[in-house]
Amino acid sequence: DGTLFVVATPIGNLEDLSPRARQILREVELVASEDTRRTGRLLSHFGIRTAQVALHEHNEAAASERIIEALGEGRSVALVSDAGTPLISDPGYRLLRSAHDAGKTVSPIPGPSALVAALSVAGLATDRFCFEGFLPAKSHARRVRLTALKNEQRTLVFYEAVHRISATIADMRDILGATRDAFIGRELSKLHEQCVLAPLDNLAEKLAAGGIPAKGEFVIVVAGAPESVEPGGLDTDTLLRRLAPLMP
Ligand code: SAM
Repeated sequence: DGTLFVVATPIGNLEDLSPRARQILREVELVASEDTRRTGRLLSHFGIRTAQVALHEHNEAAASERIIEALGEGRSVALVSDAGTPLISDPGYRLLRSAHDAGKTVSPIPGPSALVAALSVAGLATDRFCFEGFLPAKSHARRVRLTALKNEQRTLVFYEAVHRISATIADMRDILGATRDAFIGRELSKLHEQCVLAPLDNLAEKLAAGGIPAKGEFVIVVAGAPESVEPGGLDTDTLLRRLAPLMP
């Protein structure tokens, strides 16, 4: 059988495509791309002429079947998305499920992801974090989600679209707290890269005043909630640990 390679591609700077990723993209028989035109530009930049097949959220079931078939015929396939690591807020989940179910060999070609790039420079705790991907687009649903995350103690990582960045930071300030530290990573690895760590009210002001332009691509990293001090907010484990010494 062929191997299904899952290949990370650059999130802005073409030089971030690793030599091994280039070699795999050149050697496989088929590149499964989220957007064949976009990936076409990447491939042609490196003089790679491998055939492509589209795999996006609207055709993932059918495309996966074809790819599993190709693997069965001994042809290797590389899955890529538009940018960064496939399956991280990108298509590919069904394909990987089917590949495992069909007993195919899978292999990651690791590389860029906006999630890890942002965390690596955010200056916030990284020992435990939750990746929350994109928040709901509608304000009410977004606020409900943020309210559910209010007491999460792990660092939170979000992707956000440019036209919602200001509204989302404002909602975070209102719900998670104005003084909570957060980081905005804008246009990472690109010409207008910007990395800012500040309390949420300050980030909201910078967005309103244009100090952080609402342009480009954004990752938001938010400090986890401090350990609760209100008795009502204690989780059962903490409560029991605190009560234990007082028990007879
Ligand atoms: N699979 C990709 C990855 O591994 O990073 C993420 C795909 S997701 C559809 C696209 C989102 O990732 C953007 O809306 C933005 O939030 C974030 N993103 C991608 N590239 C970025 C960059 N260069 N700088 C900041 N954020 C970026």
